[in-house]
Amino acid sequence: TPAIRIENLGKTYAGGKRALDGVSLEVKQGEFFGLLGPNGAGKSTLINILAGLVGKSEGKVDIWGFDIDQHPRNAKLSIGIVPQEILFDPFFTPREALEIQAGLYGVPPGERRSDELLGAMGLTDKAHAYSRTLSGGMKRRLLVAKAMVHSPPILVLDEPTAGVDIELRQQLWAYVKELHASGVTVILTTHYLEEAEQLCERIAIINHGKVVANEPTKTLLSRA
Ligand code: ADP
Ligand code: ADP
Repeated sequence: TPAIRIENLGKTYAGGKRALDGVSLEVKQGEFFGLLGPNGAGKSTLINILAGLVGKSEGKVDIWGFDIDQHPRNAKLSIGIVPQEILFDPFFTPREALEIQAGLYGVPPGERRSDELLGAMGLTDKAHAYSRTLSGGMKRRLLVAKAMVHSPPILVLDEPTAGVDIELRQQLWAYVKELHASGVTVILTTHYLEEAEQLCERIAIINHGKVVANEPTKTLLSRA
């Protein structure tokens, strides 16, 4: 079973904007997959469909073998999403945010990993600070920790380095690489080719809602 299978996915927003048009993609289990494309290409729309935040207009999506229409709960439990927008309650502390997220995903108190995740993301010192006092990079890393509370086999990061300074980027990537090495399937969207080519084993390029390339990174670069 592929980690993700997308067949003929289409999305037309209310108002008529065709954001995705006949997208088919497969991401293998354990792969580090990059979804590359310019602003407005449809990357966030695709991620938001995987996250269950946006409904698709047509096509079929399986996450970890679960059809998102027929088995939405199993599909959702199989994926952790780091959204592009930084959204969480500014008056909760990072530790509270992780505990609440764990509760939402039904992780029993004895199996929670809040402190471990805070440590991995370099947020131990900020565990009990209000989230609104975190820097942009810290907020981004808190979102990564949040996405991993239920230990999903797939982690999706939507433009994760936007607003994150160089040093913290390295820290973020070190953690994501560690997750990948431990077997987690990683999907990354970016509009930076350099970022994708350094990290991803396979890169799909989308433009105007269509897949225009989908190849192992080496093959793609040898023709660039
Ligand atoms: P990016 O191109 O970096 O994804 P955008 O500015 O296109 O950022 O979009 C930011 C958010 O605003 C997206 O999450 C999207 O849902 C929303 N958005 C973008 N374009 C429109 C639009 N035409 N109408 C309504 N919402 C939009
Ligand atoms: P990307 O993430 O690659 O920048 P998006 O998926 O955010 O692209 O956007 C794809 C297209 O759909 C853009 O033209 C954007 O303006 C439009 N769009 C995104 N969200 C909405 C929305 N909620 N309503 C209408 N149009 C949208």
